[in-house]
Amino acid sequence: MKVLVAVKRVVDFNVKVRVKADHSGIDLANVKMAMNPFCEIAVEEAVRLKEQGIASEVVVVSVGPGAAQEQLRTALALGADRAVLVETVDELNALAVAKLLKAVADKEQPQLLILGKQAIDSDNNQTGQMLAALGGYAQGTFASKVSVEGGQLLVTREVDGGLQTVVLNLPAVVTTDLRLNEPRYASLPNIMKAKKKPLDTTTPEALSVSTASSNTVVKVEAPASRSAGIKVKSVAELVEKLKNEAKVI
Ligand code: AMP
Repeated sequence: MKVLVAVKRVVDFNVKVRVKADHSGIDLANVKMAMNPFCEIAVEEAVRLKEQGIASEVVVVSVGPGAAQEQLRTALALGADRAVLVETVDELNALAVAKLLKAVADKEQPQLLILGKQAIDSDNNQTGQMLAALGGYAQGTFASKVSVEGGQLLVTREVDGGLQTVVLNLPAVVTTDLRLNEPRYASLPNIMKAKKKPLDTTTPEALSVSTASSNTVVKVEAPASRSAGIKVKSVAELVEKLKNEAKVI
């Protein structure tokens, strides 16, 4: 089973982002970038499937600037076999990314496509679902457990009321939730080995995909700062403040 994993380059989750002075977006100058955490979980799951002898090849793909090669090399160091960068400097929306991933999938013909449930920069939670719709693939989103049985995929999903298990025919899209696995760290020898693994670059034009967006970001603003909290001495005082100051009860 060939597995395609989509990884996105995002601002590292430890970084406190700054909004640009003109409110057109986030200031990315000198900011530490990293692999989207849910994509790390996606790579880990694919590598585990390979270690179990279920996956034959793990191909990682990223859509982004040339610098996204760093995240692809990280994925190769974690155990992926091959990488594809769809190079573009444009800010793409989820539909454009899904179309590009579909074009890569048409070439690669994977049986399983693993994505993060959400990119922590744009918080879309759309790309996996859109990719499944475009490709006519089955989908198991918010996966907390994945297993393969008799040529089908069993995906346990984290839903509001608890856990739901779905059986999917292949090819299928899985999007990863936080509890699916705990990603490993890349070892130094594997980081060295990853430098020699194949990394191909293509472009949206070469894939014949139009990435024109139908939506525009109007304004980006930092959340309003919160005033400091206070400690109350008793439940009675808390109730009194909720009633008379916050006026929420
Ligand atoms: P989103 O729908 O933007 O929240 O992203 C969900 C998932 O789609 C991410 O965790 C990635 O697996 C994939 N994805 C989104 N954008 C990209 C990108 N530019 N390159 C590769 N994968 C992406």
